[in-house]
Amino acid sequence: MKIVTSIMWFRRDLRLEDNTALSHALKDSEKLLLLFQVNPEQFLTESLNQQAFFASLTAFQQNVNRNAHLQILYGNPQESFQKIKDTLTDWDRVYFNQDERGFGNTRDREIEKFFKEQGIVVHSYMDHHLHGAKEIKNKQGSFYKVFTPYYQQWKEKIKPTPVETPFNPKIVIKETLFPKDEQQLEELIADLPDQNSDSIGEKAAIEQLNRFLTEDLSDYETARDYPNLDKTSRLSRHLRTGELSIRTVWQELQKQKNSIAKQTFEKELCWRDFYNMIYAANPEQKEQPIQEQFRFIRWQNDQDNFSAWKKGQTGFPIVDAAMRQLNQTGWMHNRLRMIVASFLTKDLLIDWRWGERYFQQMLIDYDPASNIGGWQWAASTGTDAVPYFRIFNPTTQAKKFDPSGAFIRSYLPELRELPEKLIHEPYKMSEEDQRNYGIQLGTDYPFQIVDHKEMRKKAIYAYEASKEFA
Ligand code: FAD
Repeated sequence: MKIVTSIMWFRRDLRLEDNTALSHALKDSEKLLLLFQVNPEQFLTESLNQQAFFASLTAFQQNVNRNAHLQILYGNPQESFQKIKDTLTDWDRVYFNQDERGFGNTRDREIEKFFKEQGIVVHSYMDHHLHGAKEIKNKQGSFYKVFTPYYQQWKEKIKPTPVETPFNPKIVIKETLFPKDEQQLEELIADLPDQNSDSIGEKAAIEQLNRFLTEDLSDYETARDYPNLDKTSRLSRHLRTGELSIRTVWQELQKQKNSIAKQTFEKELCWRDFYNMIYAANPEQKEQPIQEQFRFIRWQNDQDNFSAWKKGQTGFPIVDAAMRQLNQTGWMHNRLRMIVASFLTKDLLIDWRWGERYFQQMLIDYDPASNIGGWQWAASTGTDAVPYFRIFNPTTQAKKFDPSGAFIRSYLPELRELPEKLIHEPYKMSEEDQRNYGIQLGTDYPFQIVDHKEMRKKAIYAYEASKEFA
């Protein structure tokens, strides 16, 4: 019988358990090459986002290499696969988990043409979501635009269960086929800052899931909006690299007793599917506002204000603490993502695409669909977005979600000594207050860079002007 030599091409599914494409590849093949292809066009190692991804890739490689081998190919995808074809002449099948949108989707469509020309049979699978982009449509057969009716259908649908993936190292090709490429990856990641290896990889992801379900899920409904409590699951990073399978998350969640908290958490997982669907339905949305009426906003795009926002030097403590959390840790609490995105777009009138790109660089859980979705929501340009006239007041938000200022104090050491009545509005300090607390406004901490009330009016005007122009 002809030997079937296949490739399992890993991308954002860095795990050996509950992996759809891998389970099929293992079942069907007699010889299997496990592959990760590094495309330098896609990876910019200077960003926190990419550093986090490479840390996960390294953890995965170490895990695989304990009894098998993860082959690394470096360069243009087509040239990489051509190299394999020239080396492994009996290779005739490739397995991978599909990307439904964005860069990955375009890459898949292009490389599939190449595979076809080469006579390589493609086996690709839905794996990243509970429900794929095309699975849930309205009665007219179109994509939903509004979340609630999508969610109503989503929650009634049966969810996929974990896929048995019995790993068989015996069939895996262990000889290093492309030592130069592996060396190139090593050089690429050699200078990256150390990531805490206890918190990454497949095992750490499962532990984090179990910890959240046993310790924090019961408080999720009430505590999830308070950044200082840190009671959200922190699973986004693992879902983004695929260290954790969404089916496993769902299965473990179903073992918990029913509660409002559980339902709220399920709804958050639905947002992940919703934004995936929205990006697949609107492939231009990284560059283009979904709502046509808001394509003509005249953004102010002041470079100094943008720089102050990035550095956490706006004079609005909740915004500054959030941005410093992002800069220092690569993660930001969901409530704070909404606050800083609203602040950038409405209080500074800076184009949401600038913010989206900054988050892309910085977030260790960066996911294009959720990030673009979140930004277009906050900028009121997306589908089912916050209305443009309902503008967050950063100070009111701070008083509500960080009432004692504990979160602010943890990221703004210069304000640590301030009492509650001043922590949200340090610009109100008198000369005497400044002496008492040892802070000089304008030197140790900035005055507010804009006036919220004034900017609120300007933002509403800018959105209304765009509507007239459209
Ligand atoms: P939990 O509250 O524990 O939620 C569990 C999971 O549900 C998350 O891990 C995530 O997969 C999903 N989820 C929760 N909220 C959302 C949401 N609003 N949209 C989509 N999925 C959601 N999430 C990302 O994963 N990557 C991003 O790049 C990203 N960028 C964002 C940008 C902005 C401007 C905003 C407002 C939100 C963004 N989000 C993004 C959504 C959300 O903030 C994060 O998923 C969440 O904070 C991650 O923390 P967690 O895992 O503890 O969340």
